[in-house]
Amino acid sequence: MHVSGRNHLDFFIKSPVPRLIQMTADNSYIEVAVAVPVYHTFTYSVPQFLRPFAATGKRVLVPFGQRKVTGYILGPSQSYETAEIKHVLDVLDEHPLFESAMISFFQWISDYYKHPIGEVIKNALPGGLTLYDYDLITITPRGKKVLRSDAINPVERAVLRLLDSGPCRLNHVSRKLKHAVPAALVQSLQRSGYILKSRELRDASIKTRRERFFALADPLPALDRLSKPRKQILGILANQGEVSMSELKKHVPTAARLVRALEKEGYLKMRHKRVYRDPFGEPIRADIPPRLNAEQQKVVIQIVDSLNKGFSTFLLQGVTGSGKTEVYMQVAAETLKRGKSVLVLVPEIALITQMERRFRSRFGERIAVLHSGLSAGERYDQWSRILQQKADIAIGARSAIFAPFSKVGLTIVDEEHDSSYKQENNLRYNARDLAVVRAKLNGCVALLGSATPSIQSCYNAFAEKFVQLNLQQRIENRPLPEIKIVDLRESMGYRGLQRFITPLLQQAIKDTLDRGQQVLLFLNRRGFASFALCQSCGQPQRCKHCDISLTYHQKANAFKCHYCGFSRAATSPCDSCGSSKIRKLGLGTEKIETTVHKLFPNARVARMDRDTTSRKGAIVKLLKGLKDQNIDILVGTQMVAKGHDFPNITLVGIICADLSLNFPDFRAGEITFQLLAQVAGRAGRGSSPGQVILQTYNPEHFSIMAARDQDFNSFYHQEINFRKALDYPPFSRMIQLKISGKDSVLTRKHAQQLGDRCRTLKTSNSSAYSTVEIMGPIESALTKVARRYRWQILLKGRHAKALHQFASELLAENPTVFHNSRVRVVIDVDPVSLL
Ligand code: ADP
Ligand code: ZN
Ligand code: ZN
Repeated sequence: MHVSGRNHLDFFIKSPVPRLIQMTADNSYIEVAVAVPVYHTFTYSVPQFLRPFAATGKRVLVPFGQRKVTGYILGPSQSYETAEIKHVLDVLDEHPLFESAMISFFQWISDYYKHPIGEVIKNALPGGLTLYDYDLITITPRGKKVLRSDAINPVERAVLRLLDSGPCRLNHVSRKLKHAVPAALVQSLQRSGYILKSRELRDASIKTRRERFFALADPLPALDRLSKPRKQILGILANQGEVSMSELKKHVPTAARLVRALEKEGYLKMRHKRVYRDPFGEPIRADIPPRLNAEQQKVVIQIVDSLNKGFSTFLLQGVTGSGKTEVYMQVAAETLKRGKSVLVLVPEIALITQMERRFRSRFGERIAVLHSGLSAGERYDQWSRILQQKADIAIGARSAIFAPFSKVGLTIVDEEHDSSYKQENNLRYNARDLAVVRAKLNGCVALLGSATPSIQSCYNAFAEKFVQLNLQQRIENRPLPEIKIVDLRESMGYRGLQRFITPLLQQAIKDTLDRGQQVLLFLNRRGFASFALCQSCGQPQRCKHCDISLTYHQKANAFKCHYCGFSRAATSPCDSCGSSKIRKLGLGTEKIETTVHKLFPNARVARMDRDTTSRKGAIVKLLKGLKDQNIDILVGTQMVAKGHDFPNITLVGIICADLSLNFPDFRAGEITFQLLAQVAGRAGRGSSPGQVILQTYNPEHFSIMAARDQDFNSFYHQEINFRKALDYPPFSRMIQLKISGKDSVLTRKHAQQLGDRCRTLKTSNSSAYSTVEIMGPIESALTKVARRYRWQILLKGRHAKALHQFASELLAENPTVFHNSRVRVVIDVDPVSLL
């Protein structure tokens, strides 16, 4: 079979590599990407006084139409017509925010995802960089002193003199002086310690964790007259060297008061030290790499062998608990030895903390962490540490793919199949794919790992674009859990509790609890009842803004929309007929939790889903509860399926395996298989064997049978045949146009016009576009979300290049074909969800 020409990698191999940019000596004209929705870059001239400060990777303030906007310097301008050129107004950064090596990556993303270059960069940089406007500057005593000397230039003198009469908002300085003052000059004054800049918002959000540490003073005064607890403290320090406050408190509860006195009297020295804690609040100890088993060793050798030999991608398939993370760490260590940096992507925050913990115990402080759970200030700090080369490993969620390393030697994507690598707003990129692209552009190794790899990646391995590696044994040969299927059709006759907590599951829960072990119950739907039916008129209760039925939430006593967040009191009458007789049907995690409570009144039951984890720190608290065995039964959605490692969970119950099978999406089977196999993998990770009870209405569906047998290969072969027969990815590529608007008629018309334009374009160049298929416009499966009516057009093609050229041409024709003020069109390249 001929398989090339239909693959993810082909596109960028053929796309032009953008020029690398060095700033010329005089910086008189620069190329700027502005942070607005336009697809090309602009040339600006740089006034003399700003030239010393202009450099690739810095932000500038530039006039754009009637506005002033932020732009990013991409380098000196190549060609320009001097007539129409506007001036840069200011240079905003003292140091570049990215290196020129990143520009080709940004450019690639902009071309491939059809997203304006300036917005790509804005998306890549840590947020919150616009706080600039609120800076206040104050003169320091040193500044007052230098003002009396002649060590400064006239502009600096003017600024300091102004500040000498009182603090000033930074963006008022130029106006007050009636003289342009570059931000870069202000920054150099600040660096010299002549002025202080305060950022109200940012200062408040930066909180590194610091702790007091104590050590014995040298020389030590006489000990004889000290009280017993004081002697005890000094004894601990004599034994252990430097010890933290929290550690001391464990031994001597009153330590806080005592150390203050001891310090005063010269018995000990104190210093503040930054501390890193694991997500459970425990200090991280350095670890020693374990001896790899034979399988791991083989894999590590093969990857390490490819380091420094150009671009290649490995797909590491290893069952849950087979030691993939250990492989990542050992390959990372080898990469660092070669003077290169490592990027580690993990699908979600709870898992990042787990990965961070293991990497930190191995690599110490060389780690930067990037994810959305950090405040803007914290994220900016992490970003700066990378730029300053204080960190050479970045761990994070999808946005960490933009970490500004100049020399990447390895990109790692853990749980590479996970759909959360796809960003579903603004810049719609897939970080898993970008990890391969970045490796390609850097000529280095990409390592994708999963127990249940995506069909896409497996296909790439099959086509020999990726090198497949396997770990078939769990560490210490722990067996995979035994999976029993329960046919839910047989319990249709049951009423109430027994319908979903079937007798077999109930007995298994009881046995597990009796043994003092923990239970995980999985259901991929939150809430209490998934729909609410009016008993008078028979209508389901729907969201006011979406075409979606509302879910009943018991704790909130409200009907909620899971798409837009709309909420309405459960006591309110039917919105069709006004009747108050509304019946709540179906199930969700909240109902399972309540049911389990009734069946096992002595068990400690907790629930983990989006409703219980919206507060910061809630996830960690739940995970800690599991770890410390303060939770006997955890009920949860797919949040519980991912990667967690809790050795005392020996029973996993899958309440209803079918929910994701019915998604109107060609990936429904893949998603179901991955979810079931992952959740099953949570059982039996410790020394006791695990058991899984999988309840389903479709016991003979191949995704479910393959999950039962943990047989990835048989799943892959069935699924790939299905994809091939219907010409779905990976045999074709897709680009989806998502059309939405608040006016149903206008939106439909716009969708139809856009469809017509697609067809005209296809016929206008039928030879180039013969492989491009245009499907739609059709109304989306979710016809209305958050008051917007939704339509879609799917472009599909066997040849990535033709498909992409088609979309680019469509976009270039006339941008207003796409957007106007009433209807929005979003381009989704390689869509993950077609809803
Ligand atoms: P995975 O990432 O595939 O789920 P992990 O890397 O988390 O697997 O390994 C599972 C467990 O086995 C972890 O507790 C890890 O510390 C341990 N482990 C991994 N490799 C080894 C080894 N070579 N020797 C001993 N223990 C190991
Ligand atoms: Zn809604
Ligand atoms: Zn009604």
